[in-house]
Amino acid sequence: MPYDYIPPLLNINNGKIILLILDGLGGLPMTLGGETELEAANTPNMDKLAAEGSLGQTIPIRTGITPGSGPAHLSLFGYDPLKYDVGRGVLSASGVGLTVRPGDIAARGNFCTLDEEGNITDRRAGRIGHEEAKPIVEKLKSLKISGVEVEIAHVKEYRFTIVMRGDGLSDKISDTDPQKTGVPPLHVKAENMESEKAAALFQEWVDKTREVLKNEEQANGLTLRGFATNPELPTYLDSYGLKAACVAVYPMYRGVSHLVGMDVIQFQGEKPEDEFETVAKYWNDYDFFFVHIKKTDSMGEDGNFDGKVKIIESVDQALPILLDLNPAALLITGDHSTPAKMKAHSWHPVPFLLSSPEYALTDSQTIFGERACALGGLGTFPATETMSLALAHAGRLSKFGA
Ligand code: ZN
Repeated sequence: MPYDYIPPLLNINNGKIILLILDGLGGLPMTLGGETELEAANTPNMDKLAAEGSLGQTIPIRTGITPGSGPAHLSLFGYDPLKYDVGRGVLSASGVGLTVRPGDIAARGNFCTLDEEGNITDRRAGRIGHEEAKPIVEKLKSLKISGVEVEIAHVKEYRFTIVMRGDGLSDKISDTDPQKTGVPPLHVKAENMESEKAAALFQEWVDKTREVLKNEEQANGLTLRGFATNPELPTYLDSYGLKAACVAVYPMYRGVSHLVGMDVIQFQGEKPEDEFETVAKYWNDYDFFFVHIKKTDSMGEDGNFDGKVKIIESVDQALPILLDLNPAALLITGDHSTPAKMKAHSWHPVPFLLSSPEYALTDSQTIFGERACALGGLGTFPATETMSLALAHAGRLSKFGA
């Protein structure tokens, strides 16, 4: 359980919770004294919620640590990513929509360039693009290994992901990337006896790829790393007594939600209103909805300040669809900051808005923005405490002790 003290306190009631994540929401002013993306955005609905509710800011992992989206989401779901280790292979596979069940082994793969002696000359195969890498991945899909099922998918540029499924597989396997050039890729080696079978099968797969890759100019070799299996995290139902659903467009967020036992809802469309209408459609079927907006982060990564502002505004415009559902608690935040100024994720605290018409302790802040959140009533707190706040404001937690 992420927090052992929560399950004994749970009240089962009808209070519904929406956790709306705008990926990479936090930002920075482009110039000293300017506004952040969220502050610059025209967000009348969120500002009204801010005025009536409580603001604060979260620390995604630890102070000063810049998170990836996978661990940052685990944090928001209440699972400390430093305690619950979801292997890179699992996150990568989940990220492109491959399912990793307990006992399956997932790994990340890189194409690389080998010289005539089989030594690596480029660990990233000249950073070949999507167009070149995808057909190579398609060819690798035809490889069969007897006794196991192998799934592979392209991730980005020279990167792909692989999942092996079969009996008696274990994931204590060392990376085959030697982290330098001038040497061949390492053999797939088991780190303990239980993993020997899986290591041998992965090596067999690697050997078979040679024939497929031999005529490729740049991607004529590959390395594997981050071998991992599904860590079997405690579920939302066991941890929080919540029947939970995920409404997200991008595969990685669906994958991470699935790992904590959320139902992943399939729907058409990619706009905020498409996602919010989906919540409305399934409103009676679940206690908790995780809704994920990706494009705030994409715009931040592109350094597109105005683009990020527009995405935030489009979320705000669609927000009445969620408000009409009268959730007991609506939490709007990000998984981390992605300031357009930095074109990257950052370590800054993340703006957090809690709306709960019944229980929110209204603070003195009246707009949703980084600096208002820094002065908000909820203060600065670890993202892992988001779920206890949500449960409490939905009337789902009884008191601790007599
Ligand atoms: Zn993110």
